[in-house]
Amino acid sequence: MAQKRVVVLPGDDEAPRTVFAALEVIGALKVEIDFVEFPVGEKWVRGETDKAARAAIDASDSTLFGSTSGKTTAINYLRWGRQTYANVRPCRYLKGFRSPLARPEGIDYVIVRENLEDLYLGLEGPLEALAPLHLHSRILRADLDTSERGKFAIKVITERKTRQVARFAFELARKRKTQGHPGKVTCTSKYNMLRESDGLFRQLVEETAASYPEIAYEQFIVDDFARRIVQSPHALDVVVMPNLYGDILSDAAAGTIGGLGLAPSGCYGDDYAYFESVHGTAPDILGQGIINPTATMLSAVMMLDYLGFTAESRRFDQAIRRVYAEGGAALTIDQGGRAGTAEFTRAVIANL
Ligand code: ATP
Repeated sequence: MAQKRVVVLPGDDEAPRTVFAALEVIGALKVEIDFVEFPVGEKWVRGETDKAARAAIDASDSTLFGSTSGKTTAINYLRWGRQTYANVRPCRYLKGFRSPLARPEGIDYVIVRENLEDLYLGLEGPLEALAPLHLHSRILRADLDTSERGKFAIKVITERKTRQVARFAFELARKRKTQGHPGKVTCTSKYNMLRESDGLFRQLVEETAASYPEIAYEQFIVDDFARRIVQSPHALDVVVMPNLYGDILSDAAAGTIGGLGLAPSGCYGDDYAYFESVHGTAPDILGQGIINPTATMLSAVMMLDYLGFTAESRRFDQAIRRVYAEGGAALTIDQGGRAGTAEFTRAVIANL
């Protein structure tokens, strides 16, 4: 295999500690990867570092990303510049995770969150700016009163991006089916209320389902779906949803298996993918050395798989599984253990 190149953007606040922990394990696995490492967010020079990061991303196979609170600006390029439209967020319970559910064993599904549109385009402004549009409310049966002081936000759902992410979800369900999963896609949005935008999302996913007769299909309104991830998560396989619901519900999903420290993610486009934890930069535990690196490590596991290092990816994953199955003091504090980030990392390496 040709030498792979990976950009490392350690991110901001406490996130870099998780990225360096994941890199330590990859180092121990002796994977043939050239890493191009960028500074942490505090040392990021706006404009200059950003430009260099974009060039490095373009010359790489993937990026391992620590979360940002705004200092590491390359995230926008990774998303929109590289059109990474499918944000894949697995929700998989491993023995030893500190789940609040009575029976978390067997929870193993994937949220596919549309990553590029919906309410995330920064299209907000004063209500009065909408006056020339004379917008008519279907609910109020009247024009929108733009004389009120207030703000608006625009939600955009396009046919192309919805079809793209829908196909991705069905392809993923097809691949998972070969690995023993049920082969089912669940679509969720607020299609009863937002009939045009979320309605279009639902309709296009349903249309895509017709091309995958071997994959089961179901759809739920998002409030009903929120209950299902708590009450019947074992029934889920692959779930596809618009951006905002995916952002919110994947944090909730992480909570059901034991918390944010455990939830990985990968953002995939047609020719690029980058990997980062679901959690943010955990500024409240900055400098304490106790952040749980599992989410970033599992994101690195996904990255190794994406790059074709299947055996190494599996070894890394199994080592994490073993540390949790053994439990006890080697786990980090959020999971009921006594280990700091460094001790947990050593335990994973010892289990490779
Ligand atoms: P964002 O808006 O980017 O999601 P945030 O500060 O709102 O950032 P997080 O950084 O995800 O959210 O943190 C939420 C809470 O979870 C914090 O109390 C944080 O310390 C905790 N937390 C997040 N990630 C981890 C982790 N990997 N290990 C331990 N605790 C974590």
